[in-house]
Amino acid sequence: MTRHKHAFLGALSALLPILAACGGGGDGGIDVAGGTILQNATVVNTRDGSLAAGMNVHVEGGKIRRITSQPLRATGGAQAIDVSGKYVVPGYLDMHAHAVESADRDPPYWPMMLASGITGFREESDSPANMERGKVLNQDSAAGRVLAPEVIFHGGEAHLNPTISARDASNAGAPSFDHLGAGWGLLMDCSSEEQTLRPAALAGSLKPPFPPTFVTNPRAYDGAQNAPFYQRILDTYDEAKCVELSKLFAKNGTWQTLTLIRLRTQDYGNDAQYRNDPNLVYIDKSTRAIWQQVGDQFAKLPASAVTTLQQFYELQKRVSKLMKQNGVKIMAGSDFSGDMSIWLVPGVSLHQEFRELASAGFSPLEVLQMATRDPAEFLGRQSSLGSVEEGKDADLVVLDANPVADVANLDRISAVVLKGRYLSGAALGKMKADAAAAIARQ
Ligand SMILES: [Zn+2]
Repeated sequence: MTRHKHAFLGALSALLPILAACGGGGDGGIDVAGGTILQNATVVNTRDGSLAAGMNVHVEGGKIRRITSQPLRATGGAQAIDVSGKYVVPGYLDMHAHAVESADRDPPYWPMMLASGITGFREESDSPANMERGKVLNQDSAAGRVLAPEVIFHGGEAHLNPTISARDASNAGAPSFDHLGAGWGLLMDCSSEEQTLRPAALAGSLKPPFPPTFVTNPRAYDGAQNAPFYQRILDTYDEAKCVELSKLFAKNGTWQTLTLIRLRTQDYGNDAQYRNDPNLVYIDKSTRAIWQQVGDQFAKLPASAVTTLQQFYELQKRVSKLMKQNGVKIMAGSDFSGDMSIWLVPGVSLHQEFRELASAGFSPLEVLQMATRDPAEFLGRQSSLGSVEEGKDADLVVLDANPVADVANLDRISAVVLKGRYLSGAALGKMKADAAAAIARQ
């Protein structure tokens, strides 16, 4: 191409926005006749954390129609919201939850999830009845009959079968593991005594695969009984084996949904920050009573058992970071499961997961990616999810502060856009207050 043509195209492309603007209304803006415009937003790029300030984002019909620095002017039925000083990221995806089975509870979990920025969640309980419920919920949500995050089914709970190694499961094509395999899980593969410990555990009195326990019945709490076994795994941890395992996961494309908060609440079952969590007002009274009983049981554990459990959790965090450093792909998930998951409040627990991920050594951008871009890739839905771009689903979170500067800013939710529908902070606050009031009346 000649230099002349270059110059011509350059001049033409400079003119185009002006022509478009003139076509829109004559004073430099573009008329928008429907949907919602977020004006003067700072859009966060989930690929590299870069920020695009001064952007106007038009959403309509469930999609992001336009993102531009040109003025957009609301006409007709469109509404414009000034979000100056605020940051726009994709809606969060909680990649491990059990919420659909409790969908008909009063109040349901959706207000808390939406108010926490969750616009979609991977439902792990995929019985035919639950899948039907999820389908109906998604239809009702799409039709505007109910405000709820999208239910995503993508295979059931991915625990590691305790009889086989994580290495073999990965080589056999397991797409992902949850909770680091649950129980001793994949840390068994990192033990220098793996060849003798695994058969010993399976032959012995240990209750695989859930110690220190996924507790539903406080009387069944077996943390003390299984602590010596966990201590053996701690004592024989071989980091070189763990690096090798991580590289194998990376090569095989074996993803991880860590659910660190789920692991921590089990290992710190009597922690005052959980027992006195003000968010417990969003949990029904019978569930709260069960959790307090489990906390009481935890308080009776011998100090040595508690130390073992908590050291095991620290090792799980260390291994999480090690896996990422060696190329393993990781997603954020809470494992919120109603009364089954001690101290986990819907929505709030995903924010707690963000902080646990940060304390494991992940950057704020990495944490944001684990809840947006990475799940989109895992689900094969990059064309509609995972970033704030034209043509993608209008599922957005508007934040009061920069999420790539501090992981705590991922909690600072100003508003949520659900399938193009703008939910203000006041609207979200009312949804939460209504949920708490319904529980208080129980
Ligand atoms: Zn689960």
